[in-house]
Amino acid sequence: MRDIFTLEARTDDELTLEIFYRYWKLNEEGEFSEKVPDLAKEYSISSYDLRKRINKHCSCLSTIFECPRCGKHKRYLSRSELKRDRQQIGWIAHKWKSTKIFYLKSVIDQELCSKCREKENIEREIRQEKLVNEKKELIRKHYQVHEKPIIASDRIDLQDAIYLISLLREGADEEYQKIRPVNSFENKLAPTKELTISILNTLFYKKIISIHPDSDLNAFEFVNGTINNPDIFRVSWQPTFQITRDSIIDEIIHLEKALENSERIDEWLYQIDSFWKEISYAEVLEFLIYWLDKHHIPYNPGKKTYKVITSLQDNFSTAQINFMIWAKMKDTTSFLTKEKPHKRVATSYLLSCIERHADLAKTNGWKTNNFKRLSCPISVVADIFYNKVLKMDGYKKIPKY
Ligand SMILES: [Zn+2]
Repeated sequence: MRDIFTLEARTDDELTLEIFYRYWKLNEEGEFSEKVPDLAKEYSISSYDLRKRINKHCSCLSTIFECPRCGKHKRYLSRSELKRDRQQIGWIAHKWKSTKIFYLKSVIDQELCSKCREKENIEREIRQEKLVNEKKELIRKHYQVHEKPIIASDRIDLQDAIYLISLLREGADEEYQKIRPVNSFENKLAPTKELTISILNTLFYKKIISIHPDSDLNAFEFVNGTINNPDIFRVSWQPTFQITRDSIIDEIIHLEKALENSERIDEWLYQIDSFWKEISYAEVLEFLIYWLDKHHIPYNPGKKTYKVITSLQDNFSTAQINFMIWAKMKDTTSFLTKEKPHKRVATSYLLSCIERHADLAKTNGWKTNNFKRLSCPISVVADIFYNKVLKMDGYKKIPKY
């Protein structure tokens, strides 16, 4: 194993050459013949300056380690560097039972030299940049708005107008050209994730909004040069309804005024009840999930939940239904502690308790309290609907039109 390095000198300076060969010289046992401090003392130079002098014009090169890209041999600047590699090569030679250089070269992990590593990094950056640009171009082409908008601002119905204004209020930029991704909103757009998805899908399929071509690349899946499943919580949006006024800002102002001054109330009136029920249902569901979660009760909204809550909506406000949920949650947790049934039945038990209580309250004319919003702050959609359109607390009251 004496030949794992070779010496190369590029100077005629005899003293330098002498120090160089003495520094790297091995004895019969393969150990370094002379100690560095002794050498340094002899030449009246520090160990550091000694290495500096010989490394300036001479090289100790590995015969085993070479850059897989340019083939340049690894250069040792000190004995300790060489010792580390000798140890590693010793283990490998022992493991593979061979000291043949060509064999060791093939089984050892070869590393790139610093220049090649730098080149590779630059090339990787260029490749990544190219890939990013290709993806951006793909998104731009895919989501370019070619088709004519199908809905003019004056034809947007109540529900969609509230959805749109909510989305713009929370996420639009200064020019109303780009809407931030919903998952970056500070205030939640809707009480539940399901309603948020429904809002975005409704506006998207009616072409009132579309995906912004400058959306974050991570919001898309790229498969074989095509785009798959955009994540609607992570993409940015742009308004794409038909503008009939001077600018998009005029349109928004006009639409907000229409909502606020009930300008199109005759046209929208029939939608108020069903829209209130939709928002109220989502608010109750949000509250219900919050409390079930608090008690570690698993829950999946199903038909029974829908049936119970919607039947309560004719007689009770959202705040009253939430009060019943809170009150009956106590009964449910004591039922769970006493009877120890599977936690899955807990929601069903809770809903039955609420239904029974609601029937008794109606028959006996009991007053049901309103539960405060504390744990579930108002969403943007509910805020705009209650305060701009209904001009009443749609959480505590049922609108009558
Ligand atoms: Zn290289």
